[in-house]
Amino acid sequence: MHLHDTAARAVREFTPITPGRVSVYLCGATVQAPPHIGHLRSAVCFDVLIRWLEASGYRVTFCRNVTDVEDKILRTARAQGVPPWIVAERNQRAFTWAYDTLGCRPPDVEPRATGHIPEMTVLIRRLIERDHAYAGGGDVYFDVRSYDGYGALSGQRLDQMRPAEDSDDAGAKRDPRDFTLWKAAKPGEPSWETPWGPGRPGWHLECSAMATKYLGPAFDIHGGGMDLIFPHHENEIAQSKAAGDGFARYWLHNGLLGLAGEKMSKSLGNSLLVTDVLTRVRPPELRYYLVQAHYRSLLEYSEDALEEAAAAYQRIERFAVRAADALGRLGLDAPVAGPAAGTAAGPAVGVLPVSFRSALDEDLGVPAALAAVHACVRDGNQALATSDKAGIRISLAQVRGMLEILGLDPLAPHWAAPARGPGADGRLRDVVGSLVKLTLQQRDAARARRDYATADAIRDGLEEVGVVVEDTPEGPRWELKR
Ligand SMILES: [Zn+2]
Repeated sequence: MHLHDTAARAVREFTPITPGRVSVYLCGATVQAPPHIGHLRSAVCFDVLIRWLEASGYRVTFCRNVTDVEDKILRTARAQGVPPWIVAERNQRAFTWAYDTLGCRPPDVEPRATGHIPEMTVLIRRLIERDHAYAGGGDVYFDVRSYDGYGALSGQRLDQMRPAEDSDDAGAKRDPRDFTLWKAAKPGEPSWETPWGPGRPGWHLECSAMATKYLGPAFDIHGGGMDLIFPHHENEIAQSKAAGDGFARYWLHNGLLGLAGEKMSKSLGNSLLVTDVLTRVRPPELRYYLVQAHYRSLLEYSEDALEEAAAAYQRIERFAVRAADALGRLGLDAPVAGPAAGTAAGPAVGVLPVSFRSALDEDLGVPAALAAVHACVRDGNQALATSDKAGIRISLAQVRGMLEILGLDPLAPHWAAPARGPGADGRLRDVVGSLVKLTLQQRDAARARRDYATADAIRDGLEEVGVVVEDTPEGPRWELKR
């Protein structure tokens, strides 16, 4: 397997520290607001990585943190007039719901910053003892000039770097580029006692402390969005390596969700909340949209692209449902192979086409892997058209096996589960849509025969159950009354 390592600026062969095992740390959410689909792209991309590592025979330990104390959370709490922990708790639940809904399997451990103050304090002490950090004015700073490799990950020279903008009182800094490990307590903010005075952690410190606690001083893969390369990951490396830890051996970064194609506006920002997007497409369709591009590419958002992704997923889904149905009707062992043929650690890799496997082995090439899925669906549809039972069975097993790796198997129980949140029950929505369409055809038929009393009664009846119909030049449109 090959993976692109940001630190090496190259695709490298992946060799874990311990044969057969992989440790992964992913920077999770700062829980100051509910998630938009950009947040979920990172979760979905790394979920595919972990599924593929497991399918390839590795035992994976996956740690994803939650930043539950941070400037933005404190600001939101002040604006809403509630304690910061209420903001963090509420939004963490919203994130967990979104991860679950999009089929991202939970990490093995999901540590929160506020639960790891002792570990952070120990790390600060180690850095001060080695002359890489110093206390000043109630804060504790990392001395960036004391660490030779500073800037290596983001490819910057120290003399070109801008000052770190993470301190309210930079007067105590020896160098404006020094970043804050610990922030002095301020009235009304949460704080913890330390040998350097009461305060709270700077953002970067938690990831070094928690990655080391759960994965050890050296681990295999560190992930996050490209926006985290500098300063966050640069600072994590500085903290951990200056303290004497080996830290991450591969740095993987997912591309961001771009909005260049759409008008940037507050309303668009709101309409990209996961809960809102899921009123327009079903969860597996949104997951397909987020998965389909290569994880390192910029994914430009557009409504059209979202709809195309939904349509592409539906083509696959239609085949899977028809094939399973055909095999059942033909008296064969219904839904065969695929995930069911695998072990607890994942589907049997043997059932997967070579083109799919080599695509994922080459830096998680999902676009090429999806091409293999669609080719297999085409073969399967051909087999359906000619009632070729063996062909149907092989294609269905392969399609399901591949989709299981991408977290998109339409026949997996996850996607059939009842709605667990707003807009999540796509199947029910589809049925309602079809029923409304059928009813409107009856109304049109009544109008055509000039039976206006019946047409009006149909319209009123729909309104009574909460369906508002509007006649437009393109035909009737309907929506659910709010
Ligand atoms: Zn982090």
